[in-house]
Amino acid sequence: MTVTRFAPSPTGYLHVGGARTALFCWLMAKHNKGKMILRIEDTDQKRNTPTAAQQVMDDLRWLGITWDEGPEVDGPNGPYYQSERRDIYDRYMKQLLEKGSAYYCFDTPEELNALRQEAIAQKKNFAYPRPERFPDEQEVAKAQAEGRPVTVRFAMPNTDIIVHDIVRGAVRFGVDELNDFVIQKSDGVPSYHFACVVDDELMEVSHILRGQEHLMNTPGHIALQDALGFRRPQYAHMSVTISEGGGKLSKREQSKTLRNAIKTMATIDLEKVAEVGGLSADEMATFMANKSNPDAPQISAMAEYLGVHLPEINVIDFLKSGYIPEGMINFIALLGWSPGDDKEIMALDELIQLFDITRLTKSNSLFDRQKLTAFNTEHMKMVAPERLLEHFKRYLAINDLPMGQADDATLAHILTACQGARTLADVAAKCNFLYQDVTGYDPKAIKKVLKKEGVKDILIKIRTALDSLDNWDDDSINKAVEELCTQNDVGMGKIAQPIRVAITGSMVSPSIHDSLVLLGKERTLGRIDQLIEFMDTL
Ligand code: GLU
Repeated sequence: MTVTRFAPSPTGYLHVGGARTALFCWLMAKHNKGKMILRIEDTDQKRNTPTAAQQVMDDLRWLGITWDEGPEVDGPNGPYYQSERRDIYDRYMKQLLEKGSAYYCFDTPEELNALRQEAIAQKKNFAYPRPERFPDEQEVAKAQAEGRPVTVRFAMPNTDIIVHDIVRGAVRFGVDELNDFVIQKSDGVPSYHFACVVDDELMEVSHILRGQEHLMNTPGHIALQDALGFRRPQYAHMSVTISEGGGKLSKREQSKTLRNAIKTMATIDLEKVAEVGGLSADEMATFMANKSNPDAPQISAMAEYLGVHLPEINVIDFLKSGYIPEGMINFIALLGWSPGDDKEIMALDELIQLFDITRLTKSNSLFDRQKLTAFNTEHMKMVAPERLLEHFKRYLAINDLPMGQADDATLAHILTACQGARTLADVAAKCNFLYQDVTGYDPKAIKKVLKKEGVKDILIKIRTALDSLDNWDDDSINKAVEELCTQNDVGMGKIAQPIRVAITGSMVSPSIHDSLVLLGKERTLGRIDQLIEFMDTL
């Protein structure tokens, strides 16, 4: 049976790169009618935040990626939090120590650093100098009494190791590239390498899909599997996704966007911006000098304050920006994979049907944001209206928009009125006029619409015609507008545009009948009156 696992270290929000790993694990499991396990690799207590695992699960669920075993669903191979599996690791650790495949070390960080410096000076890879005789329990007790850190290292076999990778083929690691790595840290907690190898065995994982940055860890993992008498799962290391700026998709990219935007702002109160971001004057200065990248919440707070749109990086950023999961999934699936023809727009069931792990690409992929928007636009048209409504409600809630208070029928109407929109943010922006009074008129609208001959008269006629309607529905409104065109011998634009400016203050809105039905008769007439009054000030 195909068993894949997604094994995030919960250090923050789910990054779009992690979402890709999860997606490929999931597609592979679904395609082969196997299962996917979610395992939370939370052994590094210093780096883990308590809410991060929950956030990762929420983000996966939003994307529609489910797991067959793992937190919240359970299964026969739990617990699925590594922090709850200590006694299991201890058992295997003991086994390795007893058979002499691992040994205790007592080096202080300073001593280790000196060894590293020495290797650098000799232009060699750092390799821990394995002692000829491994320390015994007495020596361990003595080191502990002296307050030395006690770690356990794995004694790597003295041979080259070949990793058979589904994406890269056979990759040979020479013996001088390999090192006796730490498998138990000085706090007694197993390292990622050890916990991961033990869990992949016990959870019967058949395929390990992970980022290319882990390829260098794999020879160590294979050697550990051999030493413990475990099976060797199959490996697929996925290529890197790069941002349009050239680097990795990281918070650095967001910092850069914010820094550049600040530099182009003519008048700006940097002190205030620093305060909003919770930065001291010095921290602000190093940030602006390109010498530091503040944390994501600080960057977001400053960007929001300045109205700067940051490139999305974490899954939650895309949700906040109004992308829908179907569009995201389709786009992410093509980062380093393709079905083998020119087919690009695919629904979930098609992706599952077509997914073939041997078609993962070796070359890096580009995170092309325009393409994402194009995919999103297509999927907004493709998804069932009820689903789109669910996505829209989630989008409005997470952004805390007043539109979120509207009932389902109104929101569904807003969505149909905005068909063809690229994102849910576009929908919300286009219909924002429903939740905000008109407090001024766009200068472009003044010039192009209001300053034209006879607009005030037309507005008065429009008002009278609309006021006389007994029914406030699509048909009645359309008929009234058509009659106004005929009676005044003008084209549709001459009637529609002044109405649009009256109800929104701008020249953008959904169709006139949708806009007016949504706004209601009373508010429509009120806004027309407001504009008629404003016309006298022009
Ligand atoms: N916890 C590791 C990470 O988040 C998992 C690596 C792996 O898949 O083995 O990078």
